Amino acid sequence: MPEVEGQKDAYMVHHNFQGHDNGGTVAINAMEKILIDAGATIYKETPAVDLCLDESGEIQGVYACGADGTVYQFNTPAVILCTGGFLQSEEWMDYFHLSYDRRDINSTPGHDGDGLRMAYSVGAATGNVCIMMLGPGLWGFSRDQDQIEYALTKTGALWVNQDGVRFCNEDIVTTNYTLAANAIMSQHEVWAIFDNAYINARATGGMLESTNDRKAGGALENLYADLEKGVNDEYLNVVKADTLEELAEKIHVPLESLLETVQQNNEMYEAGEDTMFGKEPQYLYPVSEGPYYALYLVSNSYCTMGGLQVDGGNRIRSTDYTAIPHLYAAGTEISGLDGTTYGLILPGSAMGYCIYSGRNAVQNAVKDWLE
Ligand SMILES: Cc1cc2nc3c(=O)[nH]c(=O)nc-3n(C[C@H](O)[C@H](O)[C@H](O)COP(=O)(O)OP(=O)(O)OC[C@H]3O[C@@H](n4cnc5c(N)ncnc54)[C@H](O)[C@@H]3O)c2cc1C
Repeated sequence: MPEVEGQKDAYMVHHNFQGHDNGGTVAINAMEKILIDAGATIYKETPAVDLCLDESGEIQGVYACGADGTVYQFNTPAVILCTGGFLQSEEWMDYFHLSYDRRDINSTPGHDGDGLRMAYSVGAATGNVCIMMLGPGLWGFSRDQDQIEYALTKTGALWVNQDGVRFCNEDIVTTNYTLAANAIMSQHEVWAIFDNAYINARATGGMLESTNDRKAGGALENLYADLEKGVNDEYLNVVKADTLEELAEKIHVPLESLLETVQQNNEMYEAGEDTMFGKEPQYLYPVSEGPYYALYLVSNSYCTMGGLQVDGGNRIRSTDYTAIPHLYAAGTEISGLDGTTYGLILPGSAMGYCIYSGRNAVQNAVKDWLE
């Protein structure tokens, strides 16, 4: 992700606080000012690398490593781990049996599982883990292809799985992104199928519905060019074919199933009723004349949630369920509260828990070791 101009320590995410652009930087700058005013020293680009233990094995701080290789030992009465989880670590994803494939990783850098590693090194128990998924996204999505991302992945058009059959009501994407991602990840592979008339209608008339980032209507003048990039790029996230036979071969689904699915789809479009999954009639689109396009759909993945267990004071629990002295955690590395489905219905639930748990950890660390 690009750095925000003039704000070198923050990465851009698509959140805006009222009256401000670049939401994340606004929040970080405000918190940084409070810390500096209170007399704190902030060490940037100095990641904690390990817990520091005394001779009896008790935690007495952390070791950290500066950009120039300097190793620091910070002695503290309490350590609060809040390193944001492990979405960018293939090794940790494997450890929790989470697939790294079929994900469009949307998180900012630095989520390598450092907090979990440090906590497990002193006997922390493993906690529930899930991934905040919204979707669907486009495999190997690049900003060059954003007209495809918005116009073609976030519609209720025809989706088929590896067997060439439908598996869900595609209009779920118009009401709940996170359930759409769950549905997609429940299959081995998923393709969204379009005919040329559909693409042409979007290229000239724009999207049918607005999303957070884009308004409906207006020409998408780059759409065909973006599709060609997808056809030719290394990810092969777009497949183009003149016939359905050629399309089935290229996306490796059984031809007979695909033809049957397309026929059913077209009949339901004519009848104005999805008799299989109850999709709203306005999201039924025919697949008639070629060329045809298939988009490889994946889940947009934002962060991992969970991995550690804490008590009500955000003290990290050990495998025998007691609190590990001097060790606390906050943020996404403990928030397994979503289970497998991110609570999209409650805006800010992820950040809200991070803010609450950070405060709770600090308050309890002060009470336990400083008062
Ligand atoms: C694109 C996007 C959109 C989102 N939208 C929403 C939303 O609309 N609503 C919502 O509630 N949530 C949203 N989230 C989720 C929310 O941003 C996260 O849940 C929250 O920021 C996690 O906070 P955290 O403090 O646990 O981790 P982070 O905010 O990731 O902070 C952890 C920090 O620790 C640093 N770090 C890592 N390792 C070390 C180390 N060894 N030493 C020192 N520092 C280290 C990391 O670099 C990072 O800066 C979104 C996330 C993304 C990526």
